[in-house]
Amino acid sequence: MERKFQESLEFAKTMDLRDPLKDFRARFHVKEDEIYMDGNSLGLSSKEAQQSIERVAGDWKKEGIKMWGMEEGRYFHYPKLVGEKLRGMIGAEPNEIILNGSITTNLHQALATFYKPNKERYKILVDGLNFPTDIYAVKSLIELKGYTVEEALVTVKSRDGREILEEDIIAAMTEEVALILLPSVLYRSAQLINMEQITEEAHKRGIIIGWDLAHSIGAIPHNFKKIDPDFAVWCTYKYLNGGPGSVGGLYINRKHFGKEAGLKGWFGNRDDLQFLLEHRFEQAGDAGGWLQGSPHMLSIAPLEGSLDIFEEAGIQRIREKSLIITEYLMFLAEQRLEKYGYRIGNPRENHRRGGHVSLEHEEAYRISLALRDHGVVPDYREPNVIRLAPAALYNTYEEVFRLVEILEKITKEKSFEHYSAERGTVL
Ligand SMILES: *Cc1c(COP(=O)(O)O)cnc(C)c1O
Repeated sequence: MERKFQESLEFAKTMDLRDPLKDFRARFHVKEDEIYMDGNSLGLSSKEAQQSIERVAGDWKKEGIKMWGMEEGRYFHYPKLVGEKLRGMIGAEPNEIILNGSITTNLHQALATFYKPNKERYKILVDGLNFPTDIYAVKSLIELKGYTVEEALVTVKSRDGREILEEDIIAAMTEEVALILLPSVLYRSAQLINMEQITEEAHKRGIIIGWDLAHSIGAIPHNFKKIDPDFAVWCTYKYLNGGPGSVGGLYINRKHFGKEAGLKGWFGNRDDLQFLLEHRFEQAGDAGGWLQGSPHMLSIAPLEGSLDIFEEAGIQRIREKSLIITEYLMFLAEQRLEKYGYRIGNPRENHRRGGHVSLEHEEAYRISLALRDHGVVPDYREPNVIRLAPAALYNTYEEVFRLVEILEKITKEKSFEHYSAERGTVL
């Protein structure tokens, strides 16, 4: 690795002073005695998010049902209105994004829409390292369509347990594959898959492809105009700081606006027909056609405020800082932690890694418990990974410096040995 970093605390402080995003930290509810490194699981709350929650709650309080019609139907259009604020971040065209449900339910919707198996093409291609819920959704749809998982699911395996190679994905794109679902960034190893290359190869073979942006949206800009995927899903509670259980996102490429939504609901109707309450469904002519029931107003609200911060900071600047601060963390880990049995499990190249560092250690579980008692909030993933996500908007270089000091201390003094290795429910 380049020697652009130094090991001293002064160096970290200088980096913070020079950080073009440094003022955003004050907008978040950061605790000064805690090092929060879990923004890739649940991003922190911000003043803007709190304000937008209060605004929706206040409108309900003041207006009752009349709130639906306020400001030219602001809330009636809320899932699209706030969805549009994500457009720049992923390079979508107007009206290709809706906010609804969760990743899991949006996957069910997308698969019900795009998975149309026939005798020749009936397989779905996934990777062996994806998050379980994505795989559960795929398996459900395979079975709903009358196939067995054994005959219709193709899983691209990892060679080393960390990464999925693009060449292996492409090699698995046989003529029976109808649809591909992959994560943009692998949740454990932080590998960023080459979305443009994979999408192009899929389309050359007439395969529909969708991406799960859970670990990239809000950390990495995407250019969907260039990538041109068929659909994408994501959550908004990770890097987007939309709050616990905040609404999910669904992108439908405009070339598919004429397709029938797989799982229809009355909010997918054309706006002018919805309240006629007829049993005839006439789908809206854009991604709004994939909406289902009443919008999750209270779980869209905090996202609205949070996205104002993103607009101001700019996703390019966020990615730039994220790359430097994670590289700095890797630098310190190499200098100070490798001798204590830690190993960096994420790809090193900028164009192949997401927003977190994946630190492996055979005692990762007990080290994570010890970290909590040292005021660090990490994120543990089986079997041996400590995920550390210094978030560009609110984490500092000094925090990264202190984090590495604590990791060093815990293993040098073996204080993790005071903890039990028996697994609890959530870490
Ligand atoms: C976080 C995450 C999920 C979570 O799904 P929800 O339905 O939003 O709970 C799904 N897939 C991936 C890849 C994730 O990282």
